[in-house]
Amino acid sequence: MAEYKVKIKSIENVTHDTLRIVTEKPGGYSFKPGQATEIAINKNGWQNEKRPFTFTSLPGDADLEFIIKTYPEHNGATDKLLDVEVGDELILDEVFGTIDYRGEGLFIAGGAGITPFVAIFRDLQKKEALGMNRLVFANKTSRDIILKEELDEILGNRVVHVLSEEKAQDHAHGLVDKEFLKEHISGGENFFYLCGPPPMMDAVEKHLYDLGVSKKSIIKEGW
Ligand SMILES: Cc1cc2nc3c(=O)[nH]c(=O)nc-3n(C[C@H](O)[C@H](O)[C@H](O)COP(=O)(O)OP(=O)(O)OC[C@H]3O[C@@H](n4cnc5c(N)ncnc54)[C@H](O)[C@@H]3O)c2cc1C
Repeated sequence: MAEYKVKIKSIENVTHDTLRIVTEKPGGYSFKPGQATEIAINKNGWQNEKRPFTFTSLPGDADLEFIIKTYPEHNGATDKLLDVEVGDELILDEVFGTIDYRGEGLFIAGGAGITPFVAIFRDLQKKEALGMNRLVFANKTSRDIILKEELDEILGNRVVHVLSEEKAQDHAHGLVDKEFLKEHISGGENFFYLCGPPPMMDAVEKHLYDLGVSKKSIIKEGW
């Protein structure tokens, strides 16, 4: 399988535990918004520790961008990413991914599960094709919301932020449960796009089926 070594051009925090990493883009490397690759850090002992991450940059951009939530408690690759610096190298793999944009619908993301949708919304904005797409974005607290300003700017009043562990103005409170979904499904959605932690995905998917949504209208990627 082909591997590509790319240098990190910039690295910064977008939330207290989430990084934005911009890297060089290998010549001829192409992907669709929503797709991902496996990444390892090119440092001794880490070259074989591949983890999947989604491109948040657009296919036509000169660089690649990744938005990566870090888990120091795993002592794994995302913890190690907290030590990398500009000029260090990442090893990228081939492109893969099951989430692609098929048409207007309701996007439901949990935490870092927003990344494929960031790429899709940026792409739709660029093409002036955002249409009636809507986003439900679930997080624990307001400080966990990744790229809130940008998402609010792109989607305006078609984004609902849901917080499970904080009550805040202009944010819904609680879980994305059946009652919540009933309130936020218009009935006209052709597609439901889901991405987030497996327990949330499983629960949301079950609620959608209970509400009469068909399997073929659900497009999902479980983490
Ligand atoms: C297709 C796809 C795309 C993805 N895109 C993104 C993205 O764009 N951005 C993003 O942030 N995430 C993304 N993810 C999720 C991301 O891949 C994981 O968060 C990441 O692999 C975690 O890596 P890690 O090295 O920190 O931990 P892990 O690989 O989960 O774990 C490393 C070690 O820690 C142990 N461990 C696991 N959990 C715990 C725990 N709670 N306490 C102690 N030890 C533990 C494990 O057993 C393992 O030995 C994506 C996932 C998929 C499948």
